[in-house]
Amino acid sequence: MAKISKSALVIGGGIAGIQAALDLADMGIHVDMVEKKPCIGGRMAQLDKTFPTNDCSICILAPKLSECFRHPNIKIYSFSDIQKVKGSQGNFKVDILKRARYVKEDECINCGLCAEKCPMRVDDEFDRQLRKRKAIYMYYLQGVPAVMTIDEDKCLYLTKNACRICEKNCDRNAIDFEQRDEEIKLKDVGSIVVATGYSLIEDFQNDALKNYGYKKLRNVVTAMEFERMMCASGPQEGHIKRFSDGKTPKKIAFLQCIGSRSENSKKYCSSICCMYTTKEAMIAHEHDNELESYIFYIDMRAGGKGFQSFLKRGAEEYNIKYIKSKVSEVTIDNSENPQIVYEDLEESKIKKMGVDLVVLATCMVPPRGIEDLADTLKIELNDYHFIKTKPFYPVETSREGIFTCGCAHEPMDIPRSVSEASGAAARAAEIIRGAD
Ligand SMILES: Cc1cc2nc3c(=O)[nH]c(=O)nc-3n(C[C@H](O)[C@H](O)[C@H](O)COP(=O)(O)OP(=O)(O)OC[C@H]3O[C@@H](n4cnc5c(N)ncnc54)[C@H](O)[C@@H]3O)c2cc1C
Repeated sequence: MAKISKSALVIGGGIAGIQAALDLADMGIHVDMVEKKPCIGGRMAQLDKTFPTNDCSICILAPKLSECFRHPNIKIYSFSDIQKVKGSQGNFKVDILKRARYVKEDECINCGLCAEKCPMRVDDEFDRQLRKRKAIYMYYLQGVPAVMTIDEDKCLYLTKNACRICEKNCDRNAIDFEQRDEEIKLKDVGSIVVATGYSLIEDFQNDALKNYGYKKLRNVVTAMEFERMMCASGPQEGHIKRFSDGKTPKKIAFLQCIGSRSENSKKYCSSICCMYTTKEAMIAHEHDNELESYIFYIDMRAGGKGFQSFLKRGAEEYNIKYIKSKVSEVTIDNSENPQIVYEDLEESKIKKMGVDLVVLATCMVPPRGIEDLADTLKIELNDYHFIKTKPFYPVETSREGIFTCGCAHEPMDIPRSVSEASGAAARAAEIIRGAD
């Protein structure tokens, strides 16, 4: 195969970005991948199991992470941001800022000794603040690249000129407090794929969840927090426990459409919560087969192959009760048990139900910084600030040579993110091959 001189840039290292990068790289095209977090993997790395097969999420993702890392045609810039984009389709020039992690990537072997000795305890973002990590940390256990990062806002040496314990405990001399942010300039970028994924509404406005007791009642959690609670590598090591008393919940209410589909919140549907909620109720039942689960839904949106039978299995085999309803608020009784106040839409009656734990399926929203990135790339956003795509061309942005895939342009599940990623990679490759 002739050597292709133009490269591709993939922004975002979630499952969509990873798939796009692998497809392009397998076509013989060099790919630079820019990920703002210390490791690639995106949200899929945070999930316990994935519908519709309920396979272990990290078990499917991990081989792709290492394939991406080891692929001779892929260069990963993690902990990095896009700074400037000039030029046009077939010939972009891109400036990247690689932030200092104060650890030498080619020396660190992720043995973790430095973190064991670090005295600082910090909320763990990956585990949704449900546990603490150290100021020197691995973003997540199976993360790629498998190197530690020092949190410069929390490190005693970087903030107060004290400590340096991590340095003394690193046999490989991998700690480097002299490391500085680095500017990287890419030339000859033929096309760009934007796969920046999504955030969750609670990361921006806890207000949207206040009627449901979030952050006020200890036994109300979000669906992403619940994923971490179920996960063997999560803060509860796979034993689901209430935060108020450490007891295993015997009755869980899952509330749908939280922060979405109403005038006072986001007006759109996140499209996948009906499915992942049933999955979460099924997995929780596998942890404890006496569990009763109640799913409070407005309407069921299960559009996908086998999705209806998945819900049917939930009801028949996992003791899940579906209640067509509108929940107005979650209060509390004197034993920290949440009380759901709701309108039963089938009986047109206002009712109450007491449960042990509430799980909120919160709205998916565009990631932090998307407006700045859109400005830099000179692409348009839609009314909800996801990336705008052309009608009938789902992976094409408003600018020639820049494509998108996955949740960067609308909420979607993993299978669709992956198939779109291949579509975006094919379109990006057309430009590069044509230019060669
Ligand atoms: C609670 C919950 C449970 C779910 N369960 C399932 C399930 O069981 N099955 C299923 O199919 N789907 C499930 N999903 C959906 C699944 O998480 C998404 O479909 C999938 O993660 C989308 O992948 P992505 O690559 O588009 O986005 P992401 O996973 O969000 O990845 C985007 C990446 O881009 C990076 N990024 C963002 N902005 C920038 C920037 N400016 N520069 C550089 N990098 C950037 C991010 O750090 C991230 O690594 C669930 C979602 C939720 C909320």
